Amino acid sequence: MKKLLIFPLLLTAIVLAACNTQTTPVAIETDEPVPVTEADVVPEPAVPESAPAAQTVEDSLAYVREEEKLAHDVYVFLYKKWGVQVFQNIAESEQTHTDTVKSLLATYGLPDPAADLGPGQFTNADLQALYNQLTAQGSQSLAEALKVGAAIEEIDILDLQTRLAGDLPDNIRIAYENLLSGSHNHLSAFTSTLLQQTGETYVPQYMTQEAYEQALGLASAGGNGNGYRGGRP
Ligand code: MN
Ligand code: MN
Repeated sequence: MKKLLIFPLLLTAIVLAACNTQTTPVAIETDEPVPVTEADVVPEPAVPESAPAAQTVEDSLAYVREEEKLAHDVYVFLYKKWGVQVFQNIAESEQTHTDTVKSLLATYGLPDPAADLGPGQFTNADLQALYNQLTAQGSQSLAEALKVGAAIEEIDILDLQTRLAGDLPDNIRIAYENLLSGSHNHLSAFTSTLLQQTGETYVPQYMTQEAYEQALGLASAGGNGNGYRGGRP
């Protein structure tokens, strides 16, 4: 049986010898069957990573596109319901956020999940359910509406932080960091408006107290959590 194995090896050695120049005689002088280690064969030009990475970019952009649309659509809805300026101001900010992601989708030649959708309509079923739930909750009272705003910002911050912890192309990373920065300001705006309008101190619904306070500290208009002063969020 050994002959059957040895013969092709010998043949290989002969062929290699014929092909080799003087600079690489090593391959035929040693009998050690070492040459095929994984390290030799698998320098791996990121083949296993590139396909999922492309998939991740598409899924990520599609989701964030609608996540930002959700924030916009809820705030437009709540502004119509309660007429409080903070909703309109932040809705404008969310429009620029969702537009940013839309243009990133176009940059990557990816379809826009929100194309042809009206206000309050979403391709993603989870976001559709969340929109329905939050608009119902925010219709109950102004305090509930402001808590809905803060809840959306908490959700956005946690989602963006998770995405930013993974691998992202630079242009998407920069965009998400910008969205995250906006959410810090929005969270501060909604919670400080809640305090001003109702006297109620907001209790985070999704974040830990520590993460919530850290987020407020990152709000650009002030470091004490009451940074929003009615200007552009
Ligand atoms: Mn946003
Ligand atoms: Mn926001």
